[in-house]
Amino acid sequence: MPSAYELDRDALALLLADQPPYRCSQVWRGLYQGLRRPGEMTDLPPALRDRLEAALPPGLTELSRSEADGGSTLCWLWSLPGGARVETVLMHHRDRSTVCVSSQAGCAMGCSFCATGQAGFARHLSAGEIVEQVVAAARESRRVGRRLSNVVFMGMGEPLANYDRVSAALARLHGELGLSARHLTVSTVGVVPGIRRLAAEALPVTLAVSLHAANDRLRDRLVPLNRRYPIAALLEACGEYRRVTRRRLSFEWAMIDGVNDTNADADELAALAAPLGAHVNLIPLNPTPGYPVRGSPPARVGGFRDRLATRGVNATVRHTRGGSINAACGQLAARAGGTPAPLPGRRTARPGVARLAAGA
Ligand code: SAH
Ligand code: SF4
Repeated sequence: MPSAYELDRDALALLLADQPPYRCSQVWRGLYQGLRRPGEMTDLPPALRDRLEAALPPGLTELSRSEADGGSTLCWLWSLPGGARVETVLMHHRDRSTVCVSSQAGCAMGCSFCATGQAGFARHLSAGEIVEQVVAAARESRRVGRRLSNVVFMGMGEPLANYDRVSAALARLHGELGLSARHLTVSTVGVVPGIRRLAAEALPVTLAVSLHAANDRLRDRLVPLNRRYPIAALLEACGEYRRVTRRRLSFEWAMIDGVNDTNADADELAALAAPLGAHVNLIPLNPTPGYPVRGSPPARVGGFRDRLATRGVNATVRHTRGGSINAACGQLAARAGGTPAPLPGRRTARPGVARLAAGA
């Protein structure tokens, strides 16, 4: 049985073929503007409401939700049909609310330092399962008087290895949930054909590339996909993306103690980033069981950022503070970036809770 957010409009019309013609628009609006389950659409006749609720079950089942930062960070753990699990993180910042979504259960890319990579690949998420994560976040945002404004594909999985479903989800997020293309960010480890395809799409979304190393010797070690698409090929695709879409690129750089955080690393990175006008996000590495190396100490992270700046590259530092929220969730929250905003009537951030500060 398809879930409510799996259906396109034609399929919904088919399901409502015995109803007056306006019903399809009404239900569609209920799903995407009302952010409601069919069972909550009180403007429908009760019998139809019950029928749709049964015909269009939720695609995601909530296993848990955990809060941090006095309610401004929220992490969901979902179970999918078939039993796989994924996470979604919602973060309210002063000026925006961002959701970090998963595109796959697990990931096949095998980056050594990444908890998702260490767990291996379970399955692709469908377009509806991706959209439904955003709908859950939009609904929760509305409940606390905020508007969901940004979506980042920085949760579990490699979005460009699940291209068609991610692309269908992006179209839906833009067309039906009304999110602007520049506020949709796809993060990739460097799937070059995917970057080229994305450049050719009508929707110019923002692209983030997880670089982490600026020479092939080190990147081959950290990111196995680099052996297939080395840095020169990756940068060429990045250049094309920028030319075609006119969007600013960003490079993600997990700062790993003693591995990619020297002055020479900063210089190499600056030489690649400056000609592309790319922004760099520095994320001190979160240690994971399969890669128990520490993140770089704050002084080194600050020095690295300053060195990039003197070479004409803007960089933002994103801090996590591990704590009561579970580690994987803290990691996803770090990727979403920014400073948590206190919500009206909420407690202020507790110490020891995963927390971020941009530009610190
Ligand atoms: N697969 C995509 C998107 C999901 S990962 C990608 O790799 O870009 C999102 C970001 O989290 C990537 O930049 C990734 O390198 C980073 N990341 C993964 N594990 C991390 C860790 N242990 N500490 C800090 N950042 C990590
Ligand atoms: Fe997959 Fe991204 Fe993790 Fe690499 S960093 S294993 S591509 S989720």
